[in-house]
Amino acid sequence: MNRREFLTSTACACLATATAKVDPLFAEDAPAAAPAIPKRLYRCGTPPPTPAARIQATRVITALRSHRMNFRGKTVVPIRFHVIHDGQQGLLPDRQLKAQVAMLNTIYAPTGVEFKTIEVDLHENAAWFRHEYGTDQETEMKTALGKDPSGCLNIYTCEPGGGLLGYATFPWWLKDTPALDGVVLHHASFPNSPRPWVQQPWPFDLGMTAVHEIGHWCGLYHTFQGGCDAPGDDLEDTPFEMGPAAGCPIDQPSACPGESRFDPVENYMDYSDDACMKHFTPQQLQRIRDMVGYYRFELNPQTSRSSLLEQVRKSVE
Ligand SMILES: [Zn+2]
Repeated sequence: MNRREFLTSTACACLATATAKVDPLFAEDAPAAAPAIPKRLYRCGTPPPTPAARIQATRVITALRSHRMNFRGKTVVPIRFHVIHDGQQGLLPDRQLKAQVAMLNTIYAPTGVEFKTIEVDLHENAAWFRHEYGTDQETEMKTALGKDPSGCLNIYTCEPGGGLLGYATFPWWLKDTPALDGVVLHHASFPNSPRPWVQQPWPFDLGMTAVHEIGHWCGLYHTFQGGCDAPGDDLEDTPFEMGPAAGCPIDQPSACPGESRFDPVENYMDYSDDACMKHFTPQQLQRIRDMVGYYRFELNPQTSRSSLLEQVRKSVE
């Protein structure tokens, strides 16, 4: 089921906004309040790529290879955290943001992408805190808070409506809708989330939602993209998978005809529990390098000045 199908668009009046900019870098520790946990949870609201977008992304990779262009260096991605809260709910403390970024840097190290927090802002706004994907609240929140989308990663933490743990924008959307660029994360998905309020199993508090959503932000699809139909997620080293995994069903043969491999339930781009997620494939790591280097070239002084990349761009567009 497409996450968009589950979500309903609601128009609601915007509540008054109280915005507090935090300086220095991190918010102070604050007591966490119990979030309203919906009965059903969905790991991700990022929509599938359009046929045109995936063809374009494939053309980009073909052009990079034909120009023998590889992005081998390090790219530092500055993060601006926008911590949306409703009273005490959603007030993420410094230690959780730091733990999340440390985990991202370990997992993304093989791609050359390194994350560095440069700003943390707190914003009290109940409507934004519970906004639903694709609504006016999302646009309003991001337009008001997002900064420098070509030069950083804007991360919005809140409690997204519809039971979503998070959603992200793809890198090829940056050019046309820069104000919407970024990643939205449920505040209770961060590592070391306080557990006393949990009334049910909550297997999503090890920080894998950020790893997954930033995977989309770097141009990855779900492992089950397209189900059993080619080209799947456009990568050969991820098995065809009929649909998203739940829990951690390791050693489960793929249900797709002709697919002899197991379902990739330990892949960061599936929907498994956090504790189950363990790796990107080599081709996913390569695609992250390609997509960030090509579409998010302004993050890196070398790629932003590259005449070869300019040539590749002209050959694709
Ligand atoms: Zn996703």
